[in-house]
Formats: sequence, C-alpha cells, structure tokens
Amino acid sequence: MSDPLSSESFFQNFIKLKREVFELNKLFEVNNLINSTDSFYTLAEKFIKFIKLHYDPQGVAFFAPDGDKFKVLCDENLSDFCSFEFINKGEGIWQIIENGIPFLVIDEEEKNIYNQFFERNKLNDLHSMLWVPFVQEGEVIAILTLGRKNQSERYTEEDISFIKKASSQISSPLWKHKQHEARESQTTELQKTLHNISILYNIGQAMNFIDDLKKLLKIILGKAVQNIGAQKGSLMLYDATTEDLAVKVVYGIPDKEVEEKINEGIFECTRIKIGEGIAGNVFQSKRAIITNLGSDDPRFKQSTESKVDSILCIPLIVKEEVIGVINITNKQDGKFFNQDDLDFMGALANQAAIAINNAQLYELATTDGLTKLFIYRHFHYLLDNEIRRSNRYRHKVSLLMMDIDNFKNINDTYGHQVGDEVLRQTSQVILRTVRKIDMACRYGGEEFAIILPETAKESSRKIAERLRHHIEEIAVTTKDGSIVRPTISVGISSFPDDANTQEEIISKADKALYFAKRNGKNCVAEFNQDDCYIIQDVTAY
Ligand code: GH3
Ligand code: MG
Ligand code: MG
Repeated sequence: MSDPLSSESFFQNFIKLKREVFELNKLFEVNNLINSTDSFYTLAEKFIKFIKLHYDPQGVAFFAPDGDKFKVLCDENLSDFCSFEFINKGEGIWQIIENGIPFLVIDEEEKNIYNQFFERNKLNDLHSMLWVPFVQEGEVIAILTLGRKNQSERYTEEDISFIKKASSQISSPLWKHKQHEARESQTTELQKTLHNISILYNIGQAMNFIDDLKKLLKIILGKAVQNIGAQKGSLMLYDATTEDLAVKVVYGIPDKEVEEKINEGIFECTRIKIGEGIAGNVFQSKRAIITNLGSDDPRFKQSTESKVDSILCIPLIVKEEVIGVINITNKQDGKFFNQDDLDFMGALANQAAIAINNAQLYELATTDGLTKLFIYRHFHYLLDNEIRRSNRYRHKVSLLMMDIDNFKNINDTYGHQVGDEVLRQTSQVILRTVRKIDMACRYGGEEFAIILPETAKESSRKIAERLRHHIEEIAVTTKDGSIVRPTISVGISSFPDDANTQEEIISKADKALYFAKRNGKNCVAEFNQDDCYIIQDVTAY
C-alpha cells in the first residue's frame, strides 16, 4: 500500500484533483451551453462545437430519429451520407445503444466491431470510434458519433468518463426540447386544420357544415385531452334563448354510449348559469382559470355527476365576444395543469372559436328559426348546386314537395301556437327520417321541399311514403286536452327523367303535390311522363 504522504502519491492526488477541477469547469461550460439554447437543434449544434473544441475528432455527427431512420442533424464536414436504419432491433449495436452509455465501436486491433451494420448503412465515412447514445424514458432520442481524438489518438477511459458525464447532462434538456417541439408542431397542425375549416365556412362550399364542425370539434377536443394528458374534456356554448351554457361536445366519458348520446344531442348535460361554477366564471370574466384544488376551490360547482380534481377552463372568444368555454378535466398521474397547457389550449381555442362562430353565422343565415330547416333562399342555392353536380356526374336527383293538410283548420281551431308546434314536430320527423345527405327546407308557411341527391324515382317513392307514415304518428296535445294529428301530401319529380332545369323540377313536383291534394290528401303523387299518379302499394317503407 502506498503512503498517502509520500511525494509520489501526493503528486498523483494533485494531478487527480487538477483534472477534476478541469472537468468541473468543462461541465460548467456544458451547463451554460444548455441555458443558452432554446431548441433541440441548437443544443445539438452547440454540443458538437464543444466536443470539437475539446477533442478535435476526425469526424463528428449528431443523429436524431426521423420515422424509422436516424438522420444526421448536424455534422462537421460529413455531408455525403445522411442516415442509417436499424432493420433488426435485435442486432448487437442496437442493444448497446439502448443502454444509453458511450461505447467504442472498434476493438483493440482497430477492427470495427459492428462491421456488418456499418457496411450496410455505408457508415465508414464517419470514421467512428466512439458512439454516444442519448436515451430518455426508454427512447433513443439521439446518437452522437465521434472519430479519433485529435485526428489520430484513441479515447482514454477518462475521456469516455467525461463524455459520459457531459452527455448525460444534456440528455434531459434535449428530451424536453424534443417534447416541446413535438407539441408545438401538433398545435400548428391542429391550428392549420381549424384555419382551413374556417375558410371553408367563409366561402360557403361545404354541404353538411354543422355536422362537419361537430366532428371536427370532437377531434380537436380529443387531441387536446390526449396531448395535455388529461382524463376528459367538454365544449360548452352560450345559448341566447335560455341565457346559459350548454354542453355541445364531450370526450373521455368512461361510458362511451353516454358520450355518444351527449354528442348526438340525445342526452343533455346539466346547463351552467353565467357566473356559476368555474365555466360560468370563465365565461363571465372572459379569462381562463386553472384550478388544481378540485372541489376545494370555492368557485367549483359541486356535482354528483363526476369527480373533479383539476380543471383547465378557457373561454372561446371571437371579436371580443365570448361564445362559450372549453373545459379540460383531471390531469392524469396526479400532475397539475400548468402554463404550457394553458398556452396550448389558448392557441386551439382561438381557432376553434372562429370556426364555431362562422358555423353559427352560417346557420343563422341559412336556416329557419322555428323549424331549423334550410330557408327558401338557401333551398334554391342547394338545388342549383345539386342539379349541376348530377348533370356532371350523370346522377339522378329527386325532389319532394310537401304540404301539411288542412293546416289553416288547425290554426283556426286551436290557435297559432298549436300550429307552430305542429310545424316544429313535423320538421323534426322530417330531419329524423331523411338521410344525412338529403336537404330539408321550409319552402313556405306549411310547405316543405326535400332534395334527395343520387336518388331515382323508385327510392324517392319509398322515402316519401315512409315520411307520410311517420308524420301520421305525430300527436300534439293542446291545452284543452285535444289531440291534433297532422297529415301531409307529397309530390315527387326527378332529374333528369322529368326535368332538365331547377324551375322544371320544382314545377313538376308542385303539379304532383296538387294532384295528391285533389285526390283526397294524406297521400303521395309522382310526376311521370306528362302525367301525375298516386303512389300505391309501396310496401317496403
Ligand atoms: P291544404 O290542405 O289544401 O294545404 O289546406 P291548408 O289549410 O293547409 O292550406 P292554406 O294554404 O289554406 O293554409 C295554410 C295556412 O298556414 C295559412 C297560414 O296562416 C298558415 N301559416 C303559415 N305560416 C305559419 C306559421 O309559421 N305558423 C302558423 N301557426 N301558421 C302558419
Ligand atoms: Mg300550403
Ligand atoms: Mg296546407
């Protein structure tokens, strides 16, 4: 055993200490370098410069995963090659990489240990000697390759130990940059989609606007909840008639059937009054709220429906007017909502609000308040479009014109309010009976027109009969206990069989409708080869 006080041992200790101070200084430099970078790329680039300055390797390159490959992100004069791939993740080198510890790729006799892999990927130009993998949470996020030190020397154990310390110091910041950048790019992508949808609404080209928007909002909400790592989310819109907030879209409800029913508008969630609870507060103040206190937060409205630990609630604002809120609930794994989550949701909410607002304006401009069907003016626009399309693709399109029988009687006997209720229920039955692609319109007072795209006469007969039967089932109870059972008469015509233009198809369907009226009402008539016929024996409805 050597005497610690002997001059040799003292000298060795001095050398060791000196090296440690030197290393510490260098690690401090790495730390400064981390603090001065704001992206994965700049950190990688600066780390390469640092290594270059320190060891002047024969070649040095930094690789990052890109799909199945690792692509060179930054390098020093090695631009001829750019990627490599691990076809077989069982191969020796991959298992070593996964350990996240720097390793030599050549043996004592200067032979490449992973020759096959290097040959296959044409990596010999790298002049690799040392590989430095960066592994975080089981994922290989980068690989640094170094050629011979000072252009010819081998790395000593001390060098490797230092490189290991320095690389593990930058590994976690690299990972954070990577996650942040992935999130940013997802936000941009979602924003782009929303932006595109907003444009679509503006130019008024999409057909099933409102439907599309709901689908889109479901996707947005789902992505937001997943991205933030929360349990569920909901989107509430202000209802001007009831002056409160109604849930329109939900995501992440444990019972998928319930979730679907809420999204379809079949189930209604408890409405929130303005100023009440977190959502009501956010709506009123137009300011986002994050609470990680759950039901201990005094602003929280107690609910028996679900357990809430944390909420991020953000207002949906268009031109300084608030139209609703988005709630993201229960951050998972006991984590708290933070500024990052708020920034992410803020960007999404802005775009979502514009799309919703455009859809609402569009709905207001094209649909009738009482029946929620398209208005007369919009019917002409839709029919014109449909006829052009059918002409181009040689499709058939049919038109149903309908009129409620003896409606004046209903009004005169029970009053206008009952008349209005009959109109409302009739429209609901129409909307429930026709397909999603069909377009139902209020043509006049108690007259309706339904455009049936890609539908020939035979099918439209069945649809008309089915409608007539469903309407026969309506029963409106009046205040004095009477029951009103409305019926309808329907006229059918088809393009191109009966008509070549918009005016023609309307007038032929109208002719058929009046034929049905003259023939006793509560029946369907079709226009066919210059004449009208009552539809009978349509069994398959
Ligand atoms: P027919 O069987 O021949 O169609 O007879 P009808 O009584 O249904 O037809 P008519 O055209 O004579 O009457 C339609 C009535 O519908 C007249 C009008 O006052 C009423 N009406 C139009 N719009 C509305 C509305 O929005 N609400 C109510 N309650 N009534 C309306
Ligand atoms: Mg009428
Ligand atoms: Mg009528």
